[in-house]
Amino acid sequence: MNTMRIFLSRLVTHPLALTVLLVALFFGASYLRGATLQILSFALVSILFTQSINVLTGMAGQISLGHAAFFGIGSYGSAILAQALGLNLFLTIPVAAIVSSLIAYLLSYPAGRVKEVYLAMMTLGFGQIFLEVAREWTDLTGGVMGLSGVPSAGLGTLIILGYKFSTIDYFRVLLLITACSMLFIRNFSQSRLGRSLFVMHYSELAAGSVGIARRQTKQLAYALSGLLAGISGGFYAHLVGYLGPESFAISRSIEVLVVAIVGGLWSSAGQVISAVFFTFLPEQLQLFADYQFIVYGLILTFTLILFKQGIGGLLFLPPRFIRQAWLVAATQPQRSDAPTNEPAFLKIQAKPAGIEVQAITMRFGGLVALNAVSLNIQAGQITALIGPNGSGKSTLVNVIAGVFPPTAGQVLLEGLDVTARSDVAMAKMGVVRTFQDPRLVPHFTVRENMMLGAHVKMQYSWLEAGLSMPRVRAQEAKALQQCNEILQLLDIEAVAEQAVESLPYGYRRMTELGRALLAQPKIILLDEPAAGLSDLEMARLAEILVKLKRLGITVLLIEHHMDFLMGLVDEVVVLDSGSIIFKGDMLGMRQDPAVIAAYLGDDEAQHA
Ligand code: ADP
Ligand code: MG
Repeated sequence: MNTMRIFLSRLVTHPLALTVLLVALFFGASYLRGATLQILSFALVSILFTQSINVLTGMAGQISLGHAAFFGIGSYGSAILAQALGLNLFLTIPVAAIVSSLIAYLLSYPAGRVKEVYLAMMTLGFGQIFLEVAREWTDLTGGVMGLSGVPSAGLGTLIILGYKFSTIDYFRVLLLITACSMLFIRNFSQSRLGRSLFVMHYSELAAGSVGIARRQTKQLAYALSGLLAGISGGFYAHLVGYLGPESFAISRSIEVLVVAIVGGLWSSAGQVISAVFFTFLPEQLQLFADYQFIVYGLILTFTLILFKQGIGGLLFLPPRFIRQAWLVAATQPQRSDAPTNEPAFLKIQAKPAGIEVQAITMRFGGLVALNAVSLNIQAGQITALIGPNGSGKSTLVNVIAGVFPPTAGQVLLEGLDVTARSDVAMAKMGVVRTFQDPRLVPHFTVRENMMLGAHVKMQYSWLEAGLSMPRVRAQEAKALQQCNEILQLLDIEAVAEQAVESLPYGYRRMTELGRALLAQPKIILLDEPAAGLSDLEMARLAEILVKLKRLGITVLLIEHHMDFLMGLVDEVVVLDSGSIIFKGDMLGMRQDPAVIAAYLGDDEAQHA
């Protein structure tokens, strides 16, 4: 089973195999009957449309029940422009697709504020509004009577610059466009931006912690998805030659979701198979035409029960989100053999940064989680924050990192007032944190997760990513090199290419630390980094923290293990019920009566 998957995965990602397939289809088209070509063209339209769901739902995790609207905007847009202005589809489809993309971009504003069921409802509503407009705006869309006479190859009315497009020509154009779009998405998915879409799916907090802007990332997902849906809709219009509003009803939105899910979300190869299957299926099901959607429903249900990852998960290895050739190249140069080496790129060039909180109060409703806490986190030192559960430690980290604006008080970063700046802004200023419960993309490898930290250090755009411009390769290669250094520092090179969901807890913690380090922090905030680690892993973590300190990075860490903190930290701060009850060194802390009473207990004190 697994060998078959490996074989098939190699096949569908092999440039030569893909070229052969493309050439075979391109030239083989002349031997196919018109009806077959027509169905194959429908399959290509469906593949393109499914890729739009792949980006929005598969990658970014944003469900849409109204995607037929973007498909419809592409269709009507191109058809109307062609009819009204006599323009050809090489102009009308791009224009219509850009309009669709812009509308999707605008939809991302309200949609970005809601999740799950609410998002489903909102997109459903959007689809319904589009349908009503298509029905009612008779002058433009022909209303319920539809729009006929759209220039179409099938009808022999598609004439561009005096050349009459046949069904074969149309199929070939569509084939090339689909192939290029899929290559674009493949490149995009293996870039910083493609990876950033996935982190939105699993943890928006994690995204913010390394400076990935949530709203922009969602805007990108919607705009790109709208563009692809628009292109597929445009090609649909000139394939059928007639548009009626019922073609863009909710059933089409559902259908494309079914195709994507049965194919396997984020598996382009699986989706291609699924799209072809679902295009040919209705032909085979002529008898059951009325029950078509019941059949879809049954297939979907069985897919979700039997193989959650769909056809893609069944036939292929999970896709990777780093370009493998670049990875190999980045790993080639002999790695430094001295394991004590610290990653040079992490070295703080100017002087280390300190952060100060002044009279921070944080209320959650009636609960006072932090009560006028003032604290100076010394530049270039390791400060430990300890205290009983619920004493407000994580809340303090959240306030400093910009997750919550404090109810009162100020946060100063090197004297600059940064109170209530967002987590994204703080991360960009070099304040990076990890979480008490690691927040990772489960199906990403250790390395892919870590590369999320390098997101803001790279600058290339989505267009450059999709077109795989030289700048992309240069920046990715540099980040991959840095990633190697961090993997070495954390001593997790052996598991670098394994999905984090398959790894023990300790590795996940290390992966999260690695992600934070790739963001090149000046100040790193670690929320219980040693929780769940073995003694061996804890000793390694202590060594790593010492190295970070030597590099000039300021460390704040929340921790419970006294043995771990002993000899490691410069200063310890004890919180109890939202107030600081002790500041000083470890020895002083262990003898302090207030700390003993509130936190350590007599037992612990005797061990001191
Ligand atoms: P610690 O990390 O020291 O265990 P926390 O900072 O997580 O403690 O929590 C401090 C108090 O604030 C707890 O009573 C907790 O229930 C409350 N709290 C933390 N975060 C929130 C939140 N987002 N909403 C409401 N209450 C919260
Ligand atoms: Mg906590």
